[in-house]
Amino acid sequence: MSVLVVGSIALDTVKTPMEEHADLLGGSASYAAVAASFFTDVNMVGVVGDDFPQEHIAFYRERGINLDGLQIVPGKTFRWSGEYFWDLNTRETRSVALNVFEHFNPTLPSSYQETPIILLANIAPSLQSHVLDQARNPRFTIADTMDLWINIAKDDLLALLKRVDMLILNDSEARQLTGQTSLIKAGYEIRKLGPRFVAIKKGEHGCLLFGENAFFSCGAYPLEDIHDPTGAGDCFAGGLAGYLSSLNTDKICFQHLRQAVVYGSVIASYNVEKFSLERLRTLTRDDVAERFEAFHRMSQFELLG
Ligand code: AMP
Repeated sequence: MSVLVVGSIALDTVKTPMEEHADLLGGSASYAAVAASFFTDVNMVGVVGDDFPQEHIAFYRERGINLDGLQIVPGKTFRWSGEYFWDLNTRETRSVALNVFEHFNPTLPSSYQETPIILLANIAPSLQSHVLDQARNPRFTIADTMDLWINIAKDDLLALLKRVDMLILNDSEARQLTGQTSLIKAGYEIRKLGPRFVAIKKGEHGCLLFGENAFFSCGAYPLEDIHDPTGAGDCFAGGLAGYLSSLNTDKICFQHLRQAVVYGSVIASYNVEKFSLERLRTLTRDDVAERFEAFHRMSQFELLG
């Protein structure tokens, strides 16, 4: 099977308490597509300007990502800049220049329209719905979102939620969307808005997965050194979607999703070890398998007595 990834493509400037780097490859689609490419074929849709470095396009190609849906238009690529605070969990957006992203109209080439798994990475929910309008009989659809859309496009987001199988969002967004302080209540409440499955990410504290009368809590891989948390959420979503696609099954169930959130967490944990997508350039399938095993060992315990 293959996975369709639609989202933003950006040149990011990222500052942490230790380092600052400018014009890095970023964007929700970049992270998610590269993460998914460790498991399956990826069809990517996004927009860049004519200033977008060729080396980044070459990198997508090296990862085997299909770029038929990549729009290269006159103008400048979307630029985003963020600064992390001391705990590396909290971040402030310093600047956003939408540039060619402002008029992004995600269009699926005919060769993409029957892609079985669709990952709607973070873009405006109206655009995410527009992608679904063009898709033919997807088997499983996943949407990611962010606080901005809950603030300025809630109705569009609620309309989208009725059409997707799964929503991925972080803890503060889940609280913002539902008005619940308890993440457990929030998870079940979001299910009532449409998606059969909900994953709530908790940064370095892992994630919660909700299904019908089913719940799974997954820790995060404990890392001593985090260099750049940017894109961890997108890598989580991409790894999860890529793994589901690799299962080649008609009926995705909770058991599959339990495994998928662990694979998503594995890719996200590697990604934060270096800036931008640098760590994923050298990552191998063996590395992924090794950390998956480590996750498994970590989550088991012996019953005494
Ligand atoms: P994350 O760390 O998972 O929140 O994702 C960070 C990525 O999201 C960065 O590479 C940004 O370029 C991208 N990004 C920031 N703001 C937006 C936005 N409004 N829409 C889409 N992507 C964005």
